[in-house]
Amino acid sequence: LPPLPKDAPIGPLQDDKFSRYSGATMFKELPLSKRTQDGLKRANFSKMTDIQRASLPHSLCGRDILGAAKTGSGKTLAFIIPILEKLYKERWGSEDGVGGIIISPTRELAGQLFDVLKTVGKFHNFSAGLLIGGRKEVEMEKEHVNALNILVCTPGRLLQHMDETPNFDCSQLQVLVLDEADRILDVGFKKTLNAIVAQLPKHRQTLLFSATQTKSIQDLARLSLKDPEYISVHEDA
Ligand code: ADP
Ligand code: MG
Repeated sequence: LPPLPKDAPIGPLQDDKFSRYSGATMFKELPLSKRTQDGLKRANFSKMTDIQRASLPHSLCGRDILGAAKTGSGKTLAFIIPILEKLYKERWGSEDGVGGIIISPTRELAGQLFDVLKTVGKFHNFSAGLLIGGRKEVEMEKEHVNALNILVCTPGRLLQHMDETPNFDCSQLQVLVLDEADRILDVGFKKTLNAIVAQLPKHRQTLLFSATQTKSIQDLARLSLKDPEYISVHEDA
């Protein structure tokens, strides 16, 4: 792999540059912003996991991803890094509204990945909010939700804001993430998810991650992804 120039491009790679990064094993070999590199360093992430190594060269080019890898394989960074890089590249600011949405099946998982987002995104200036059902703060959320750049949410709560929050605006959305998509479907959120996706702008990047590849995941992929890169990582048993 040729050494990267000091001012390596940030954000989506040109297609012809993809091959240059497909053999990368360390985060520092990827053309990420210094802010993201610093966030990764601070959290002691240096070597990529298999799913990160296989998907990031594609997702950083702006491609849709259907990624399958078992629990614990490091899927969270495989979607948090592309969101940070895309919004950074677009110089996303407070007045630009919602640029990234991450949908997670449960409050617990949403809370966990919100923590990862805060850690790795620490040196960026984006605002992020955790919107999960069961909290009493929905009214307060409604006042602030339009000022947030990255939303981490459960499906029900996101749809609630889409339906009830005046001026809730996702029209500029850049990246949609469906995390643990198999579990989102397992807990009966299929209709909710379809209703959400129907209200989002079609011109966006979508990253769908799941621990398993099932028929219903294929259906969801057909509905939400555009010409996706299929990435399935199986570790040796
Ligand atoms: P998954 O979503 O696939 O179940 P997670 O993203 O939750 O996996 O990651 C599982 C664990 O691996 C977490 O503790 C996370 O901090 C750790 N991890 C993820 N990526 C790396 C990496 N590149 N280097 C070291 N640890 C990592
Ligand atoms: Mg996960």
